[in-house]
Amino acid sequence: MNTQEKDKEYIASTYGRFPLTIVSGNGCRVTDEEGKEYIDLGTGIAVNVFGVGDEEWIRAVTEQLSKVQHTSNLFYSKPCADLAEELCKRTGLRKVFFSNSGAEANETAVKVARKYAAEKKGSEHNVVITLKNSFHGRTVTMLSATGQDTFHRDFLPLTEGFVYAEANNLDDVKRLVKENKVAAIMFETVQGEGGVLPLTQDFVKGLEEIGKREDILLIVDEVQTGNGRCGALYNYMNYSITPDIVTTAKGLGGGLPLGATMLGEKVKDVLHPGDHGSTFGGNPVATAGALSIIKRIDEKLLSEVREKSEYIFSAFKGAEGVKSVSGAGLMIGIETEKDASEVLSLAREKGVIAIKAKNKVRLLPPLNIPMDDLKKAVEVLLEVMK
Ligand SMILES: *Cc1c(COP(=O)(O)O)cnc(C)c1O
Repeated sequence: MNTQEKDKEYIASTYGRFPLTIVSGNGCRVTDEEGKEYIDLGTGIAVNVFGVGDEEWIRAVTEQLSKVQHTSNLFYSKPCADLAEELCKRTGLRKVFFSNSGAEANETAVKVARKYAAEKKGSEHNVVITLKNSFHGRTVTMLSATGQDTFHRDFLPLTEGFVYAEANNLDDVKRLVKENKVAAIMFETVQGEGGVLPLTQDFVKGLEEIGKREDILLIVDEVQTGNGRCGALYNYMNYSITPDIVTTAKGLGGGLPLGATMLGEKVKDVLHPGDHGSTFGGNPVATAGALSIIKRIDEKLLSEVREKSEYIFSAFKGAEGVKSVSGAGLMIGIETEKDASEVLSLAREKGVIAIKAKNKVRLLPPLNIPMDDLKKAVEVLLEVMK
């Protein structure tokens, strides 16, 4: 059996995979089993921040691997402490809990919010408002947080305590705040899996005001939008708000599993020993790699991200076969006249990989993709969208 046949036989059929087995790569280029090369605009869903084979990341990871690969959280660990310090200094948030995925980072945020609200206002204040069309992960509680029925079906009953507001509709949020005893509002600043749809400045500012007024915590899910993806270290910064909790994962580890829940002033001491934990969370190898990633997401790189973003937006806006372009930074959704799957398949034939978000073509290139490669890939996409 070849790899694809073996996968179909032995791996749970949860994924609609592309008919492509990636075996290696370099920068923004990846190579399949037959040796065909592609320009990769998917980065393993916004994970490979600096593409494949990034030397600094490999050095950080292998240096740590040669020292100790794992210690558990029963012991102190330098890479873990160093990364937490870097994240706090760069964001102004105060403490970090490390886990292994976006779903876990969000689960942690909900635990913190419920404990904070219970201690401050009483345990009946446990409701979390999320947005319709959101995506927060696949655990039973994060399915519940995810405001899309298609994800809920087949897995009922879900965790209680989530209600859904219309995105960009403050009146709807205010109504839910009146009708429920609310602990937190959780949202993505750009709904990624929902179709790469950014929230408006007014709406996000409005959420912050409601949060401040009612002592409702603001949780920003930056699992996909974070780590430089949208042209700021975290995209909440582009909205000039001060969240109470910021979660991230995907790009943070640069390719190794790592989630982080960053806690602001109000909630930094909510969790006590025994309240929460993770065997692998903050693993020294993953955190050593992450530090090498985060340190390089500086103003110079971010301004390049914003420039490339402008280039992509202007290339696709109004182009033949393109209905709309949305997103922020290098997280871009393109609605095409052709079916998105057909566009992706034609692009792969011509050596370009992109992915989907709902019915859109989604672009998540490496943040350091050379302009030449980006232009080549955009030309191919424009051609196959016609
Ligand atoms: C991918 C994603 C998640 C889930 O992350 P996992 O690492 O797959 O658990 C949560 N929230 C958002 C916004 C995401 O894009």
